[in-house]
Amino acid sequence: MTGLSDSFQRPINYLRISVTDRCNLRCVYCMPPEGIALMSHNDILSYEEIVTLVKAAAELGITHIRLTGGEPLVRAGLPELVRMIADIDAITDLSLTTNGILLAQYAADLKDAGLMRVNVSLDTLKPERFRQITRCGELKNTLKGVEAANEAGLTPVKINMVVMAGINDDEIIDFARKTIDDGWHVRFIEHMPVNGEDINTIKLVSVADIKKRLEPLGNLEPFKIDKGSGPARYYRLPGARGTVGFITPVTEHFCYRCNRLRLTADGKLRLCLLREDEIDLREPLRSGASIQELKDIITKATAAKPRGHLLAERNFHKGRPFSQVGG
Ligand code: SAM
Ligand code: SF4
Repeated sequence: MTGLSDSFQRPINYLRISVTDRCNLRCVYCMPPEGIALMSHNDILSYEEIVTLVKAAAELGITHIRLTGGEPLVRAGLPELVRMIADIDAITDLSLTTNGILLAQYAADLKDAGLMRVNVSLDTLKPERFRQITRCGELKNTLKGVEAANEAGLTPVKINMVVMAGINDDEIIDFARKTIDDGWHVRFIEHMPVNGEDINTIKLVSVADIKKRLEPLGNLEPFKIDKGSGPARYYRLPGARGTVGFITPVTEHFCYRCNRLRLTADGKLRLCLLREDEIDLREPLRSGASIQELKDIITKATAAKPRGHLLAERNFHKGRPFSQVGG
């Protein structure tokens, strides 16, 4: 097999980069109300350092990059980083995951810099509920961000909804209707225990249950989308221009087809979202390691990528806050 792969023969072509641990929201499923202890400026990789690592990874076969966080748009000058990564020939897919609050401000610049598409996290269409879930956000800002991203051509804009029992699961149908009425692409995500919580405290609504609740809208036709290589399975409802996607990290894990690595804001290569295994790249980078030396470290680390997470064994990592790992 050519390119990067792990010891389970999974081809690895996707790197998610957390560009900051900071965030302008405090979503209930992601952060404690008081936020998290923040990394110091010096701990965080500079844009030049990130680009050096992307070049090394691209030489190994990474073709897909997603920028995430924390909230990536709170880091100053993000379009500059986008431009530098877009200039790397081997990178054929460059995307961003954002809460959308600042997206209206940046959408055109991001597109101009070479960003291809965005995913926007949005869990409710009700302003008051949005304030409760995010603990401080204004729904209208995220909606303006979605609109601006569509206008700028950062498409397909995918809406990520974390479905939580008793909190927003009464809006499943409303979100699905948006795929019919407004051509939205909506992805329903199972609520994961990401900060060491007990699974019994998780507000899990299984994808099987979500599909059942969509039955009144008609049959879900499987749909193949050409952009992205993530874990979602896509479908179309009758009469819809948009799609519904389902992501099942809890009830049907997709580790066997995992193609990704993660880079934390402080330069650790994270091998699995829900496990603690990390390899430091910042220290070698700052000590002057050559691209070849960085490639060797990445190759060796990738070989040690764990087979999968351990949610089924009720083993949840209690390490870093999720917002530092990049979701
Ligand atoms: N701030 C950006 C955002 O919210 O889109 C990017 C970082 S956020 C950590 C990345 C993704 O992780 C978001 O789509 C968010 O909904 C998802 N996420 C966070 N906590 C989660 C949880 N407990 N279960 C499922 N998804 C979660
Ligand atoms: Fe911030 Fe995204 Fe986490 Fe919400 S999910 S607190 S927006 S990092």
